[in-house]
Amino acid sequence: MPEQVVIIGSGPAGWTAGIYAARASLEPLCIEGENTQENWDLGRPPQGQLAITTEVENFPGFPHGDLGGYLSSSISAERQYMLSEHQKAGVSGPELMELMRQQAINFGTRTITEDVIEVDFSQRPFKLKTTSGLEFETLSVIVATGARANYLGLDSEKQYKNAGVSACAVCDGALPRFRDQPLVVVGGGDSAMEEADYLAKFGSKVYIVHRRDEFRASKVMAQRAIDNPKIDIKWNSTIDEILGTDEAGVTAVRIRSTEDESKTEELEAAGYFAAIGHTPNTEFLKGHLDMNEKGYVKWTVPFRTNTSVEGVFAAGDVADDHYRQAVTAAGTGCMSALDAERFLGLDGLT
Ligand code: NAP
Repeated sequence: MPEQVVIIGSGPAGWTAGIYAARASLEPLCIEGENTQENWDLGRPPQGQLAITTEVENFPGFPHGDLGGYLSSSISAERQYMLSEHQKAGVSGPELMELMRQQAINFGTRTITEDVIEVDFSQRPFKLKTTSGLEFETLSVIVATGARANYLGLDSEKQYKNAGVSACAVCDGALPRFRDQPLVVVGGGDSAMEEADYLAKFGSKVYIVHRRDEFRASKVMAQRAIDNPKIDIKWNSTIDEILGTDEAGVTAVRIRSTEDESKTEELEAAGYFAAIGHTPNTEFLKGHLDMNEKGYVKWTVPFRTNTSVEGVFAAGDVADDHYRQAVTAAGTGCMSALDAERFLGLDGLT
């Protein structure tokens, strides 16, 4: 028997789809992504971007407060290790994801901890193949694989990866090599502000290098960075090169002025953190679904999560390069499950 609905991806969109689809008795299967070093290195771990975030202050329902008792009574014993860094100040990204995951499982969502590597959407039931060669047939699909962080594409970024270069301050910022050292963050959006703010707790000083003279970030997050005495902003500047040695890794970053390209400056730094936007995790879908020029899955019906293939829906950052918030991802996750339920009902398949 084919599955009724398979959810690919396990961020807020995927788990919210799971909660709604399970409550609609669709017995969803969530293929949540594989817990490999490669997926962590690429910034696309299971549970998505929130797995590599610290405090989440803007997800409704989680004001500051001690969630310790709630978390330990809600999350299954074998996943409690994910909660070890509970800060008693509200919810963290990994905690929020564990809560959503558990809620989806409580209602009957089944999980497989692998990546989907091949799809066949040419006819129903659709076919999906995972990393270990498992094959699934399903009457509908919800794609919720999210998006991952970008790098500038410099050779030196690759050369010093894991030796001072990172796109995730939360994953790597507390490492001994960064403690009490000057650090560089590139970007001017909320991610750059968040990374700089976080790194300022560990580093001696944090430079934000931004190519313009104003931030794209929300006012509150930009102001927090500007007001932080440990953060020094290098406006109108791009990263020219990351400098270092094989033994020490990153030792400095050379920046170049966008106003006068002959002007360069070397910033002593033990770490370089890229925070310049995201790329959707849609490689395995190329040629199977319509996408926009940046590779995001196209929604084809206004206010619905339909894609170019009838019976395949998309939710969260994989189809949203505009809002990209945990709460909007959860919202479209809900919509995708309702759309799938309606599709299956209308199609006479359930
Ligand atoms: P973003 O808003 O797209 O910002 C990317 C930044 O990187 C921009 O400032 C951009 O510069 C810069 N940039 C892009 N390509 C570059 C290049 N090649 N060289 C130099 N600079 C480059 O991405 P984001 O900061 O990752 O945020 C994505 C979404 O997530 C946003 O909607 C944001 O609000 C949300 N978010 C929210 C939170 C939170 O609320 N806690 C935290 C993180 C992210 P320009 O400005 O010049 O284009």
